[in-house]
Amino acid sequence: MPVHYDFIAIGGGSGGLASAQRAAEYGARAAVIEPGRLGGTCVNVGCVPKKLMWTAASLGHALEDARGYGYDLTVAGHDWPRLKAARDAYVARLNGIYAANLEKRQVAWIRGAARFLDAHTLAVGDEVLSAPHIVIATGSRAERPAIEGAELGITSDGFFELAERPARVAIVGSGYIAVELAGVFAGLGSQVTSFVRHERLLRNFDVMLAASLAREYAAEGIELVPHAAPAALARTAEGLELRLQDGRRRGGFDCVLWAIGRRPSSDALDLGRAGVACYDDGVVITDKYQATNVPGVYAIGDVTGREQLTPVAIAAGRRLSDRLFGGQPERHLDYALIPTVVFSHPPIGTVGLTEAAARELYGEAVRTYSAGFVPMYHALTDAKRRVDLKLVCAGSEERIVGLHVIGHGADEMLQGFAVAVKMGARKRDFDDTVAIHPTVAEELVTLR
Ligand code: FAD
Ligand code: NDP
Repeated sequence: MPVHYDFIAIGGGSGGLASAQRAAEYGARAAVIEPGRLGGTCVNVGCVPKKLMWTAASLGHALEDARGYGYDLTVAGHDWPRLKAARDAYVARLNGIYAANLEKRQVAWIRGAARFLDAHTLAVGDEVLSAPHIVIATGSRAERPAIEGAELGITSDGFFELAERPARVAIVGSGYIAVELAGVFAGLGSQVTSFVRHERLLRNFDVMLAASLAREYAAEGIELVPHAAPAALARTAEGLELRLQDGRRRGGFDCVLWAIGRRPSSDALDLGRAGVACYDDGVVITDKYQATNVPGVYAIGDVTGREQLTPVAIAAGRRLSDRLFGGQPERHLDYALIPTVVFSHPPIGTVGLTEAAARELYGEAVRTYSAGFVPMYHALTDAKRRVDLKLVCAGSEERIVGLHVIGHGADEMLQGFAVAVKMGARKRDFDDTVAIHPTVAEELVTLR
């Protein structure tokens, strides 16, 4: 006989935990199935340990900057193993807190990997479970290129296992992880070469951000190799050698990191037995209510192929449970205007349309306002990391449809501005807001 629940989340990551806990708060008998550590990608090999590494690299910059403010500092070096031990211990503490939270809300944790037996029955090892509502929240995993020697490189998972700082690093890819980890490695003292298939990093972001980041990374000594599609990776006496499709070879690396995107983790679920439809790349197809084609089966988070961000998985999961158990039949996540931060050095904050996308949508009715400057933070420092910002406005009312910032504080600045943009703020609402001086953020309300 299957053990019966009202709600089962497959996956104990951001989305699965959030949806199961919210369901339990409404009184549902809920379970989470998770074979690994609770918290999923974000807690174990994503946002959390990444942010700690980002902070470590940021402190390295701050120590340099402090000299300009009168500090007489002798920095004896950086202890990567000590940082890793402290970071791993912090993550382990979080794992414990997540387990305690499940217990507190009486959500069962079934340890193991789930597969469907039919639309409402799951097998986990020898256990059989059933529920009228099952949410697929199995996340995604890092891709490796299908080339010879790919196994010699690491992905972001391997980055978090590095016991020592590699001296010479190659990073292949041009998205979030490539730029974030390039900044971390460089900030902690590695020599970094960044290989991108096209002309630039962050091709899907506003061109201003990519240009600004390229300038800052060049100043930091990160080499950018454009038009560099990988063909093979080999080990030579000098280290790892990356061979490119156009015949170029670059060698002497201690570590090669693949950062070329993530693929939905749905292939081990036996979705066919439940009749759940997915695309060839494993994306589980859902409607705006997170429902799949099979009644009572839903999907949230990375596995749905939408924005691969923790708060997106959490918001979709909580809203799903609000709808199923909280008496809110229309509750769902609106995927428009999701703000996001890239934890590069300096960080990037962005919400809404790029200038190019706005021009495609609104044509001549687009007006942009931008500024670039060295923030006062750098008035007394040797490094002069600039800030660049841009507002993209559309229509006669100049509604703000895109807001992009790179520079000191962009990460913490964005959330509040995202509220205004989501509420439909116009340029004149920004103009009518009194600035806070002296800050970087004030520039966004004084643009002309
Ligand atoms: P996950 O959190 O990945 O959880 C899925 C869980 O399902 C996993 O624990 C897995 O073990 C489990 N699972 C898989 N198959 C099965 C099965 N068959 N049965 C049972 N369980 C299964 N996002 C941000 O918003 N900010 C950031 O700063 C950020 N940084 C990141 C840095 C890195 C290096 C990476 C890789 C990602 C980062 N992300 C960040 C993205 C974020 O981690 C993901 O978008 C988020 O974790 C997705 O949540 P999820 O619930 O969909 O999947
Ligand atoms: P991304 O999708 O951000 O970027 C990967 C990029 O790599 C592609 O856009 C593509 O860029 C390039 N690429 C793809 N295939 C190849 C290939 N075969 N060879 C060389 N380059 C290739 O993926 P990431 O792995 O960086 O991150 C995965 C997701 O995790 C992100 O999309 C994001 O949603 C999430 N994340 C969020 C973070 C945050 O919120 N701060 C931090 C880290 C991850 P091009 O077409 O230009 O070549």
